Amino acid sequence: MTLAERARRVIPGGVNSGQRSIPGLTDLVIARTEGSRFWDTTGREFTDYHAAFGPPLLGHNDPDVAAAVSAARASIGLTGVAVTEGEVTLAEQLVELVPSMEKVLLTSTGSEATFHALRLARAATGRRLVVKFQGCYHGWHDSVSLNVISAPERVGRPDPTSAGILPEVLAATLVLRFNDVAAVRQAFADHGPDIAAVILEPVPHNVGALLPTDAFLRALREECTKAGSVLVFDEVITGFRHALGGYQSLAGVTPDLTTLGKAIANGAPVGAIGGRADLMDLFSSRPGGPVFFAGTYNGHPDVVAAALATVRKLREEPVHEHVFRLGDRVRAGLAELYRTLDVPAVVTGYGSVFVSYFMSGPQPRSYDDLLANDTALFVGYRRRLVDQGVFELPLNLKRSHLSYAHTDADVDRLLEATETAVRHTLAEGGAEDLENATTMGGAVR
Ligand code: PMP
Repeated sequence: MTLAERARRVIPGGVNSGQRSIPGLTDLVIARTEGSRFWDTTGREFTDYHAAFGPPLLGHNDPDVAAAVSAARASIGLTGVAVTEGEVTLAEQLVELVPSMEKVLLTSTGSEATFHALRLARAATGRRLVVKFQGCYHGWHDSVSLNVISAPERVGRPDPTSAGILPEVLAATLVLRFNDVAAVRQAFADHGPDIAAVILEPVPHNVGALLPTDAFLRALREECTKAGSVLVFDEVITGFRHALGGYQSLAGVTPDLTTLGKAIANGAPVGAIGGRADLMDLFSSRPGGPVFFAGTYNGHPDVVAAALATVRKLREEPVHEHVFRLGDRVRAGLAELYRTLDVPAVVTGYGSVFVSYFMSGPQPRSYDDLLANDTALFVGYRRRLVDQGVFELPLNLKRSHLSYAHTDADVDRLLEATETAVRHTLAEGGAEDLENATTMGGAVR
């Protein structure tokens, strides 16, 4: 029996996260990662642009991060009774770097951070409703477990991604179109006094890349301030990846709370929630609170050491310069390639993140715009990329990531492999079995 078969016997779906049974990948078992590469147990090598949905901004198994974790492990394990020096230093650095953060707490995952952000917002305001946007994913917990790519007619009517969620929880969530200023104004006109929080990915990367308009982000800030609602930027993907201060530092719009995860520890399991001190001070580790906060592994020394090493490297080395330059090269190269092949495509992204939608322009601004994407071609060319050892996840609307470990030679090879993959897909037909190509009923990570 193969390892993948053994996995399916004892692990539901055969893997430990939500993206299960991806066509063509059901027998993939990972053996090793390093830099821009991973290897499977049969010895196949892949250049990785999926990047585990985004954490390894420095590259897989970065040696400086690994050394910092080993040093921490040699000197300090987990006690769980008091704070450590590393936690203090990391919190000071996050407060210094991220504009909205006056105080910050560590969690072990991004989902925990968004869970606590929404609970805190409800506790602070005494209100019920949470506003979220199509195209944005915020984790697996009930308040946000809504189908992020619901059909347009379902906007405003939450569509759960999972069985087992109380209808009352779904009814307390409003779903609006991203970048739709009029819808935001209307929601506040109709429900302002009941809105506890507005949560968004400032760049919805869970459907590739929808770039926010300045007017949209400013309208959110204005309406939340006027109504006394808590504005939450979920920067689990964008934090550190687009800038050390998060996308908020680039947009010049400061939320009340910010959630971080993924890239802030280059792959070690960490999340963070931070923001206005008057809100954050409501958290207490005592049951009864007022807002309860706990977690056995929060602030784990290994993870804190990984985060501190990541911050150090991002501050001291030209990481952002490198990944932004490669990102521009990839986007320009892909756009040129599709022009040459006469394939309608919009190549977009931000910095190290890129995605090609197979549709005519203009730049998509909301999930509705992405309904024009040719899913068969999108999934089909990515399956052929995987066959060539270039790993972009073959699922609809997934973004791809560059890291500090990727090189210009990797980009050359990516462009060549993409040309071959797209040509073959056009000649032979795109993926047909698309049922599994969008997973979790459309929820995306
Ligand atoms: N927020 C965003 C924007 C995410 O993309 C994700 C996960 N991809 C999460 C929250 C949840 O983070 P985690 O998977 O670490 O729980």
